[in-house]
Amino acid sequence: MDLYLLTIHEAHELLAKGEVTSVELTSAVFDRIEQVEDKVGAYITLVKDRAMAEAKAADEMIRQGKGGRLTGVPLAIKDILCTEGIRTTCGSKILENFVPPYSSTVVDKLKRAHAVIVGKTNMDEFGMGSSTEHSALMVTRNPWDLTRIPGGSSGGSSAAVAADECIGAIGTDTGGSIRQPACHCGVVGLKPTYGRVSRFGLVAFASSLDQVGPITKDVTDCAILMNEICGYDPNDSTSVPRDVPDYTDVLQKGLKGFVVGIPKEYFSAGLDDDVAKAVNAAIEVIEERGATSKTVSLPHAEHAVAVYYLIAPAEASSNLARYDGVRYGFRDKGAGELIQMYRDTRSKGFGPEVQRRIIIGTYALSAGYYDAYYGKASQVRTLIMQDFNQAFETCDVLLAPTAPTPAFKLGEKLDDPLAMYLSDIFTLPPSLAGIAGISVPCGFSKDGLPIGLQILSKHFDEEKLIKVAYNFEQATDFHTKGPNL
Ligand code: GLN
Repeated sequence: MDLYLLTIHEAHELLAKGEVTSVELTSAVFDRIEQVEDKVGAYITLVKDRAMAEAKAADEMIRQGKGGRLTGVPLAIKDILCTEGIRTTCGSKILENFVPPYSSTVVDKLKRAHAVIVGKTNMDEFGMGSSTEHSALMVTRNPWDLTRIPGGSSGGSSAAVAADECIGAIGTDTGGSIRQPACHCGVVGLKPTYGRVSRFGLVAFASSLDQVGPITKDVTDCAILMNEICGYDPNDSTSVPRDVPDYTDVLQKGLKGFVVGIPKEYFSAGLDDDVAKAVNAAIEVIEERGATSKTVSLPHAEHAVAVYYLIAPAEASSNLARYDGVRYGFRDKGAGELIQMYRDTRSKGFGPEVQRRIIIGTYALSAGYYDAYYGKASQVRTLIMQDFNQAFETCDVLLAPTAPTPAFKLGEKLDDPLAMYLSDIFTLPPSLAGIAGISVPCGFSKDGLPIGLQILSKHFDEEKLIKVAYNFEQATDFHTKGPNL
C-alpha cells in the first residue's frame, strides 16, 4: 500500500511498531505532492527540508519509546495560522511575504506532539469565501473533479486531505470554512465549539466566530487531532477553561438512547435532489444504529445569511485595519505622503472580496448605523442561538445537509457575491450560535461528487458529534473512497 494513503491512526500504529519510519512516510507524502499538486494546487508554501528534519527527529523520539499519536505524522496547516519562520499569507497579497516571529498555539501544540508540518494550504483571502477562488495567490481545484471548486475557505486543507497530499490537516471555520470544503472534498471536518480551541496566532477574520479545527480522512483521526488542539490558553481570553475529554473514548458502536433532531428548515426548497436523497439515507442509517429521530424547528435560521454577512464584515473591517503598510506585510512605496500610502497599500494589497467586506463592515459600524445594523444583527443572532438551545433540550444532536448542492464549477459564482454567500446557508446558523458541527461524507451525486452530512451538537458536546459520526462511518464506506487523480 502507498504510505500516503494512510490515516493518522494507521500511520501511528506502523510508526510505533517500527514498521515504517516518519522519514519514509514524509518522503512518500512529498512524492505524492510532486505527482498531483500540479492538478490540485493545495499548497501555497511547502517546507520539505524542515519537514524531513522534523521527521528525522520524530523517528528518534519513537526509537526512544517516546511521543504520542501524532509523532512523525505529516500534517498540512491552513495558511491563516502563524508558523514561526514559515511565511503565513492568509491567501493575500498584503501578507504575501509575511514571516511570523511566533507560532499560533495550535501549531505549537502540534509541534510539541512532534507532528511533521508539510506546508501551508491555500484559502480564500483572510477566510472570506466559499470556494477558495478568492485566494490572491493561486487556484485550488476539487480533486474529485478538477473543473470544480474545493469549497472554502479551507479549500487547500480539504483538497490536500482528499488528494492524499498529507495525512491530516488543520482548517479554520468562521461561517462554514471547515465543514463546507470537507463536504465538497469528501473528507471529515469538525468545527469545535467557539472557545474550545485557542485562536492565539490565528489571523483574525471575525473574532466572535473564528474557530480552528481538524480536517481528516476519517472520524478517528478527527478525534485524535481534537485531543491535541483543544483546551484553555492563557493567551486567548475567549478560550474556555474546561477539561478536554479523550475524544477517542467515544469511538464505540451503538447509538441506543440517542435522540437526533431533523431541523425541517434545512430540507426546504433549494436543496439539491441528490443531496436530499443522500442525507435522508444517512438519517436512516443512524436510526438503524439505535437512535430515534424527531423533527425540530429552527424558525430564525432563515435570517442567518443576512445576520452573518453583517456581523462578519463588521468584525473584519475592524480586524483588518491593522494592515496599513506600516506594521505588517506589503507597503506601496509610490505615494509621497501618509494618507495616500495607506490608500494605495490597501487598494493594491487587498483583493475585491476583502475590500467589499471592509466597505460593508465599515458602513455597518459607522456612527448612527450601529444600532440599525450590528446591534440588530446581534439581537437576531441571539434568537438563532435560542432556537438551537431549545432543540437541544430534547435532542442529543441535529442532522442536516452541510451544503445545499455538491461542489459548483470554478467561476460559476465568482461574479455573483450573493449566490456565493447563499452557499453557506446551512453552515452559518450553527456558527452564529457558537455550537459545534462536523461534516462527514454521506454519498455521491449522480456526477460522482461527494455529499456531506452535517451533525450539530450544543456547546462543548463534541463527544456526541464524534460518536454519531463514528457510528455512521462504521456502517458506510464513503470515507474509504478517494478521487481518481
Ligand atoms: N463563506 C463564509 C464567508 O465567506 C465563511 C468563511 C469562513 O468560515 N471562513 O465568510
